[in-house]
Amino acid sequence: MRKLLFISLGLLWWAAALAQENQEKQYPEPEKMRPGMTEFWTPQPKIVTPGDPVTCSAPSDAIVLFDGKNLDAWESVRGGDAKWIVHDGVFTVDKSTGDIRTREKFGSFQLHIEWCVPVGITGKSQGRGNSGVFLQDKYEIQILDCYDNETYANGQTGSVYKQVIPLANAMLPPGEWNVYDIIYSAPVFNEDGTYRLAPVVTVIQNGIVLLNGFVIRGTTEYIGHPRVIPHGDGPIRLQSHGDKSEPISFRNVWIRKM
Ligand code: MG
Repeated sequence: MRKLLFISLGLLWWAAALAQENQEKQYPEPEKMRPGMTEFWTPQPKIVTPGDPVTCSAPSDAIVLFDGKNLDAWESVRGGDAKWIVHDGVFTVDKSTGDIRTREKFGSFQLHIEWCVPVGITGKSQGRGNSGVFLQDKYEIQILDCYDNETYANGQTGSVYKQVIPLANAMLPPGEWNVYDIIYSAPVFNEDGTYRLAPVVTVIQNGIVLLNGFVIRGTTEYIGHPRVIPHGDGPIRLQSHGDKSEPISFRNVWIRKM
């Protein structure tokens, strides 16, 4: 009887040892981490030569949308060539000819655009230096003379018009050039037309962050709420607002696809 007990205990010990060995084979000890195990050497970021801030040149991989000479990269939303007025290395809104948009369409991008409110501009609130940059033809980043000009907060320069109050008012006075840098991630849509990934925008004016990764709610609407409308790549559109104030000017426009 005692002999049988010893044999049984021996078999049990052998089975346990075998099970442990199998488990160790199945789950081997993780390799000890070394610094190089979390370092990736490829692909390397592409080399981009930055523009010259003195001459306002564009980065080496940018598409120049206006270089001071002509509006060849633009067209009128009413059809035909863009008819805004090119002079002295800038172009000025011609309110009689409506909005203009780029001929090329874009997805996600980094856009640089400079704009200037004329000295002595008249009007107030939304009727003073009103224009805008429509991202993919749908979402307006407001342009307005907000220098000493009160208006509703979510309609100020740097707002996604009527959707968000900018984080700051960084306006320079009329006659000085404001610099917009806009970083935009295009939306991705579900099959039912809703956003799977909503559009996101960061806006910097004169080096000051006005919007920090704002999630756009939908199209810009003057009356009513934003709408979600499925779309693909779209142009950059500049607004001819139609108010009675003196028109603003633009210069040094370039875009980088992302
Ligand atoms: Mg506007």
